[in-house]
Parts: sequence; structure tokens; C-alpha cells
Amino acid sequence: MTASGLAADLLALYDKLRDSKGGVGAAALRQRRCGGCGLELSPADLSAIRARASDDVVRCEECSRILVRTAESGL
Ligand SMILES: [Zn+2]
Repeated sequence: MTASGLAADLLALYDKLRDSKGGVGAAALRQRRCGGCGLELSPADLSAIRARASDDVVRCEECSRILVRTAESGL
């Protein structure tokens, strides 16, 4: 496993996004919507996210923020 390397990459990505997104680099995925921009994901997008590994980084197609999956994501 390269968990530490992944975390460093993720942190760098988060910092970059935070700078370009007005201080919010990540958004919770709730009720099938991006918490950052409010985009509602299509069933195809949701099933693609569902198929990703739980430690994989999912990004919003609309605002590029890191989507954080929660129990309320609607997946
Ligand atoms: Zn978004």
C-alpha cells in the first residue's frame, strides 16, 4: 500500500482546489448532490462512483471539488 503517498497527493490536490474555489476544496455528496455547487448526479454517475474504491478520490464534474462520500450520499 502507498497510503501515505496517496494522502500527500490528495492533500496537494485539496490545497490547489481550496485556493481556486474560494476556500472550499471538498464537498460532501449528499442526497445525490454535490454540496459545493448543487449539481445533481445522474444515475450513471452515481453507479460509477459506487464502483470506485472507498479510498479513491471522486471529483465533481461541475465544480471539480473533491466529493466526500457519506452515509447520506444516496449511493
Ligand atoms: Zn460540484
